[in-house]
Amino acid sequence: MKVAIIGGGITGLSALYELSKHPEVDAELFEASQMLGGKIRSYHREDFVVERGADSFLARKPELMALVSELGIEDQLVTNETGQAFILYNEELHPIPKPSSMGIPSSLKPLLSTSLLSTKGKMRASLDLVKPKEKLDEDVAAGQLFRYRFGDEMVDRLLEPLLSGIYAGSLNELSLESTLPQFKALATKHRSLIKASEAIQKKQPATGTNTGQFRTFKNGLITVIEALEAKLDQASIHKDHKLVSIERDGNQHRLSFENGHVQIVDAVIMTVPQPIAALTFVEDGLSERLERLRGTSVATVALAFRESDVSERQDGTGFLVPKGNDTVIKAVTFVDKKWPTSVPDGHVLLRSFVGRPGQEEIVNENDDVIVEHVIEGLSKMLKINGSPLWYDVERWQEAMPTYTVGHKHRVQQWREAVNGTYPYVLLAGASYDGVGLPDCVRQGTNAANQIVNQEKNNDKQ
Ligand SMILES: Cc1cc2nc3c(=O)[nH]c(=O)nc-3n(C[C@H](O)[C@H](O)[C@H](O)COP(=O)(O)OP(=O)(O)OC[C@H]3O[C@@H](n4cnc5c(N)ncnc54)[C@H](O)[C@@H]3O)c2cc1C
Repeated sequence: MKVAIIGGGITGLSALYELSKHPEVDAELFEASQMLGGKIRSYHREDFVVERGADSFLARKPELMALVSELGIEDQLVTNETGQAFILYNEELHPIPKPSSMGIPSSLKPLLSTSLLSTKGKMRASLDLVKPKEKLDEDVAAGQLFRYRFGDEMVDRLLEPLLSGIYAGSLNELSLESTLPQFKALATKHRSLIKASEAIQKKQPATGTNTGQFRTFKNGLITVIEALEAKLDQASIHKDHKLVSIERDGNQHRLSFENGHVQIVDAVIMTVPQPIAALTFVEDGLSERLERLRGTSVATVALAFRESDVSERQDGTGFLVPKGNDTVIKAVTFVDKKWPTSVPDGHVLLRSFVGRPGQEEIVNENDDVIVEHVIEGLSKMLKINGSPLWYDVERWQEAMPTYTVGHKHRVQQWREAVNGTYPYVLLAGASYDGVGLPDCVRQGTNAANQIVNQEKNNDKQ
């Protein structure tokens, strides 16, 4: 069976890696740019390791850890330093209550002792322990559940800044089942989300324990991409191949690329973002019919300083900025504190995210303007003397998929529509069943295995 994988991010590479274990499948990967990795983009600058996209992954989701172990690169893993993270409120940084899971305190103590909430806000949030269960048969907005259980203050000051950054949307529209499935399951079981958070914490280390939950590599996340590339047959990877269209060709697919290359294959694994995939579905007017997944544009801004030039900094790993504050910054990581191996001694590396849903214009400003805004925002929270040693700005246009209520159902509809038009096209990657890197590895691997199983069935017939 001849298979084309479109997109050389972590999803596409995981699919190719899995298929490479099955010589009966002839798989090739096509990547539009000259680089593999997609939203993983690390590089060295002097003695710094700079991440321009994703910076780490959750160790408790097993798929990427398993891949790391198969690739034999565990010795290069590093675990995050668990310091305190903060949230900006009223021009002051407040510690995120600990212990907690995804921001939800695991007992009353951290809730009642936080400086982030007013007494009234704490009383309201404590009602979570006694309020009756909400019926959750259908998908609802995560914000609906959280507002019902904790009240608006805790959602606006704590949960929204923490969770909306990961899923790029307002909690009032984000799908509970697609973004926080564990809370949907636990909310039906436990009633109280504080109790649910306690249960999660008993099962695994949550925020507030001494074991870091995140991993990266000494030389940056690109390590896993380089290790995959090194293991794979170079002849099966085609960079600089941007797919333009997929047409039916009997029981096969005819893929046309911008550089004029044409490839006929039996099956396609599409791992590019859904709005880009939709453009290539030119048969039966499918491209026009498919609803597009919304994405938020963000920019990451890395600023390097001499340690002596940054003072009055909170002792922690970074902070989050809720909506409505007078700064373009959405979040800041103190990289030298969270990932000390990425920053040479005597230096500070501050990595800021700018751009949030509905406020994305800043991402299109030129680098100098973005950096000026970021330094202005940072200067409200810490003291910066002098200019950065260097800075690095990376833009990600419409890159953070927004899983709104009903996302799972829409994904099913997209798959049905694509299957109705093409003999064999599989959709996998961050647009569909999870945005985290382990989720992407899982989706790439599953798509590959689906093809292998199909091939086995074909052989039997
Ligand atoms: C700024 C940022 C920070 C993030 N931080 C984290 C984090 O810390 N931890 C985490 O787990 N997740 C993080 N994420 C999410 C995670 O990085 C992504 O969900 C994941 O990398 C997506 O992988 P993918 O392979 O599905 O897609 P992509 O990485 O988008 O790869 C798709 C590939 O397809 C290629 N392509 C596009 N169009 C075509 C075409 N027409 N033909 C051929 N190829 C094409 C692209 O060039 C790209 O290489 C972050 C995302 C962003 C944007």
